[in-house]
Amino acid sequence: MPGQPASVSAQAPPHTLVRGGIVVTGDPALGVRHGADVLISGGQIATVGQVDMPPGDCRVIEAAGAVVLPGLIDTHRHTWQSLIRGIAADWTLAQYMQGMREVFGPLYGPDDVYAATLVGAYEALDAGITTLVDFAHIMNSPEHADAALDALRETGMRAVFGHGTPMDQRSKDWYVGSTLPHDEDIARIREQRIPGDGGLVTLAMAARGPQHCGIAVTEHDWRLARDLGIRLTLHAGSGRWGLTKPVRQLHAAGLLGPDITFVHCTSLPDEELVMIADCGGAVSIAPEVELHMGHGYPATGRLLQAGIRPGLGVDVVTGVGGDLFGCMRVCLAAERGRLHAAALDAGSQLERFELTTADVLGFATLDGARAFGIEGVTGSLAPGKDADLILLRPGSNLLPLNNPVAAAVLAATPANVDTVLVRGRVLKAGGELVGVDLARLRRLAVQARDRLFGRAGVRPGESWYPEVAAAWRP
Ligand SMILES: [Zn+2]
Repeated sequence: MPGQPASVSAQAPPHTLVRGGIVVTGDPALGVRHGADVLISGGQIATVGQVDMPPGDCRVIEAAGAVVLPGLIDTHRHTWQSLIRGIAADWTLAQYMQGMREVFGPLYGPDDVYAATLVGAYEALDAGITTLVDFAHIMNSPEHADAALDALRETGMRAVFGHGTPMDQRSKDWYVGSTLPHDEDIARIREQRIPGDGGLVTLAMAARGPQHCGIAVTEHDWRLARDLGIRLTLHAGSGRWGLTKPVRQLHAAGLLGPDITFVHCTSLPDEELVMIADCGGAVSIAPEVELHMGHGYPATGRLLQAGIRPGLGVDVVTGVGGDLFGCMRVCLAAERGRLHAAALDAGSQLERFELTTADVLGFATLDGARAFGIEGVTGSLAPGKDADLILLRPGSNLLPLNNPVAAAVLAATPANVDTVLVRGRVLKAGGELVGVDLARLRRLAVQARDRLFGRAGVRPGESWYPEVAAAWRP
């Protein structure tokens, strides 16, 4: 099923010099370096600073006047929804559950999953996302799983393939008080397709947990993931689904641990956030989706209070845009707005901000890496790490460039992403994805989209609101 693998400069030169940029390292010891060089050798960062004598066989990327950032990390996205982009623009969470789980999910074939994942992953890469956590709860058959994995691998980006449940005709059985265990096919993926943890694409279980399953099923699934030696990630505290107290249930069953990434946490009480912090667990938030759809108010400030620095996620392009620049802006504005409103209500006003632009850029980079245990390889620009980095070229929206962090967090768009490197390989250059057949990508996406909408009896562009069954209104 996969097409021609993108010819992403198959044989990278041994050394690359990113020369003279404004390097926002994200590393506390290195800070922001103006007019600095980044020397990359064998896919890893060798030097950040001045490189007076670069090796002879060295590719040079001129970065003067550009902002060099760690590659962005999207810690939660259902990439399979890329084909039905925008369909949930005006849907609540309950309408989304109905529309995805009962209408579109069951209609996906493996070729649709392949096309969706490919177009969605390239969309992310194009927007400077070098690591994508794909929460693939569309594993309707082993062929669906292979299709998603093939697409992720084809892009050359770093990805965590979150193997999830099917989204088939039994959606309610999978998601409402489920007694169905996670599909054992995940063991095949681990043994045959992702046997180790050193590749660019690693494996996690995109689990359901106590929000959707009985505790016996949760215990089974946790044992399965841990026997396979992979991390778990799960939705927890999404609107009224969080009323099941999922973290407290995990705590009581002795299932908490540092290998779990909780998503949203918007409707969890502070007590459960502290339980996550105490076990060394991680959190991914999707503030834009959470505000739109009814998950509860973004938990950013409450998480920080509990000692957790979250990663960020786009979550669903059915409801929001697919880049992390917008997500960073919403995250910052939502948290500042919350504190302003509280101060005004108390007859006071804020004297200073607790949450800064640098904090939020950290969420989208190093904290995102920490949320999936890969902070040793990516998330900041420091010697010894893999060279996952991006260059922002200032267009009229960023000129004159006075504050590189403010530019990245408050004003940049994917159009500013000029260059993208993953483990030293150039996957975007001069504002264009490298070696990608865009005509083929467009054809795959449109054909699959037309198939899906045809099967659903919905016309693209038409406003359509699914009738919500009681099961999706907890
Ligand atoms: Zn999600």
